[in-house]
Amino acid sequence: MLPIERGLEIVMATIAAKDRADRMPAEPVALLDSMHRILREDVLSDEDSPRFDKAVRDGFAVRFEDLQQIPAELTVAGESRAGAGSDIRVESGMCCEIMTGAPLPAGANAVVMVEHTERLSPSKVRILKTARENEGLLRRAAEARKGDCILQTGRRIGLADLGLLAGAGKSQVMVSRKPRVAVIATGDELVDVAETPRPGQIRNSNTYTICAQVKEAGAEPAVLGIGRDNLEDLRTKIERGLQHDILLVSGGVSMGKYDLVENVFAEFGVEVLFDKIAMRPGKPTVFGHRGETFVFGLPGNPISTMVAFQMFVRPLILSLLKAAETKPEILEAKLDAPAKCDPERAAIVPALVRFEAGQYRIQTAPWKGSSDLVGLARANALIMIPRRPGNLEAGDTAQFLLME
Ligand code: AMP
Ligand code: MG
Repeated sequence: MLPIERGLEIVMATIAAKDRADRMPAEPVALLDSMHRILREDVLSDEDSPRFDKAVRDGFAVRFEDLQQIPAELTVAGESRAGAGSDIRVESGMCCEIMTGAPLPAGANAVVMVEHTERLSPSKVRILKTARENEGLLRRAAEARKGDCILQTGRRIGLADLGLLAGAGKSQVMVSRKPRVAVIATGDELVDVAETPRPGQIRNSNTYTICAQVKEAGAEPAVLGIGRDNLEDLRTKIERGLQHDILLVSGGVSMGKYDLVENVFAEFGVEVLFDKIAMRPGKPTVFGHRGETFVFGLPGNPISTMVAFQMFVRPLILSLLKAAETKPEILEAKLDAPAKCDPERAAIVPALVRFEAGQYRIQTAPWKGSSDLVGLARANALIMIPRRPGNLEAGDTAQFLLME
């Protein structure tokens, strides 16, 4: 059976083979709408940052040389406030009252916090503490110089980036167009969330978790409803789904008599590149393509679907978006209790992780198998147990993915 890494290589190679410059064209969006989108331009600092030497404390701009002996009494020669500098020059024995963010007046080379001063009169202040040169201030261009690249194309825009873009005057940002992802749940047993299942029926949860994962990855889901386990219905839905950038079908890909999804893929000329991965849960994951569309058959069990999405679909979406980083963030923890390995399949299962004494510690969480959302909801991570004989022992290092 295909190891996870090999499956991922196949997915990535397929994308690379189909890549075109205009595949997910860049589009301008308003700054606030750029959060979590993939940046498609190098952003340069339009000015030095900061633009001028500025105070980072409320207090007094001084010459540090004047504070060799403390307390020191200085003449307050003026005021520099945020938004309006002062044109005074701080000479020996003088200082200038200053607020955070205000320009440092000429001659000054340190800012003493107001907490370390005593105002004696409107024109006199006693300084109680020495200062080092450049203390309490930030020199012009300390963060970035005009023309420096502050954000590179391919970056997923985060909170700090949003602030940085605002600071650089980017009211519009170029980002990748969102891929359109068709989502089809399959199964005769499925009813919608709003319905009460009759005996033998269950509510469709995959459509919701898949759509949430699609959005989190930066793509746009299109819900095509529930496909029933018969060729006609699956044909109608899958044909529509193939009009999208990506088609995700959940369920109907195992070995059961009514698992017909792969048959319909074949009818529509989907070239399937793998249909089994050495992974638990998520073994019957199918990946293929037809024309411009990437196609996945995700195993129906709720946790299998989620894990398969995380391992294969998310990297594909991020790669389509031209993101610099497409892999999930894998962290390491010390195992609290042994975990059994399987020589046939790698396991990616619910786990409880906590941060203690400077490191992550992890153990597998109790769960009843790949349909057990109750167990998964009590966990906070997915632990990756390698495909090999024997056990991971307590104290061994294990890899994991954090869940939100
Ligand atoms: P299948 O791969 O179609 O055999 O489905 C495997 C298991 O997952 C079955 O127990 C299904 O009832 C369940 N399942 C399939 N699709 C969904 C869905 N959309 N929501 C919740 N459970 C599902
Ligand atoms: Mg089914």
